[in-house]
Amino acid sequence: MPSSLSLTPLGTGTAYTRGGRSQTGFLVRAGAHAVVLDLGAGALARLLDEADPAELDALVITHAHPDHCIDLFALHVYLAHGPGRQEPLPLLTPPGLAGRFSAFGGVDHWDEVFATSELPPPAGRLQIRPELTLAWQEVPHLPPTFALRLEHGAGSICFGADCGPNDELGSFARGVDVLILECSFGTGPVPGGVPHLDAAGVVDIARAARPGRLLLTHCYPEHDRRATLTAVSDALDCPVAWAEEGERVDFGD
Ligand SMILES: [Zn+2]
Ligand SMILES: [Zn+2]
Repeated sequence: MPSSLSLTPLGTGTAYTRGGRSQTGFLVRAGAHAVVLDLGAGALARLLDEADPAELDALVITHAHPDHCIDLFALHVYLAHGPGRQEPLPLLTPPGLAGRFSAFGGVDHWDEVFATSELPPPAGRLQIRPELTLAWQEVPHLPPTFALRLEHGAGSICFGADCGPNDELGSFARGVDVLILECSFGTGPVPGGVPHLDAAGVVDIARAARPGRLLLTHCYPEHDRRATLTAVSDALDCPVAWAEEGERVDFGD
C-alpha cells in the first residue's frame, strides 16, 4: 500500500542544550494521522508552530528522563486550561510515568487531559489506527526505555530513543525508511558505564538495521558534529544527516 509520511524534528538536544536547541521531540505525519515521539523541554513550543495538539492521534514517550518528557507539564496546562482539546489525548508511556508526574504536584485533571496507556516491557505492537501501527522494543538505558517504530502502509520510521550499544535495535529497526539514532558522545568514546552511543555504536546498529536513511540526534554540545557526521557517513552506504529542528523530511511513497 502506498504511504506518505513525514518527520519534523521538534527537538534534537540533550539533557542540557546550547544554541537554542530544544530537547527531544519528533512529529511524524502518516497520511491523515500525526504522532509525536517524546516531548522534552522546548519541544511543545515547536509542536505548537507545526500542529494543533488536538490533531494528534497519540503522544508516545520513550522513557522517564526529563529531556524526553518534561514538556508534558506544559502540554497538560495547554490542554487543561489553554485552548486545548475536548477529548483526552492518547498518551502512551513506559509504566509508572503518569504517577511520577502526579507525584510532582500541580497536575489536577491529568486523567481528563490524557488517556494514558502504559506500554508493557520488553516489546509489543498496537494499532494506533487501523492503518497505523506502533511497535516498541526495550533498549539498554534508564529501565525501561523503548525504541519506537511506526508503520503506515509500506512506510516506516524508527526512533532508537536513548540507548547504549545493543543487538536488539538493529533487528527491530530493520529495513525502515528512516532511522533516528542518538549519538550523545560524538566521535567518542562513550565514558565507561554510560548507556549512550557514539559514532562507532551508531554505525554498528545502522549496519544491522540497513535503513533507507539515517538521522543523528541527541549530541552533547561539546562534541564536533561535523566530524561525527563524517565518521558515521563514511562507514555506511545510506544517506546520513543530523536531524535539524523544523526541517521536515518526507519519506514513504
Ligand atoms: Zn536524552
Ligand atoms: Zn535518557
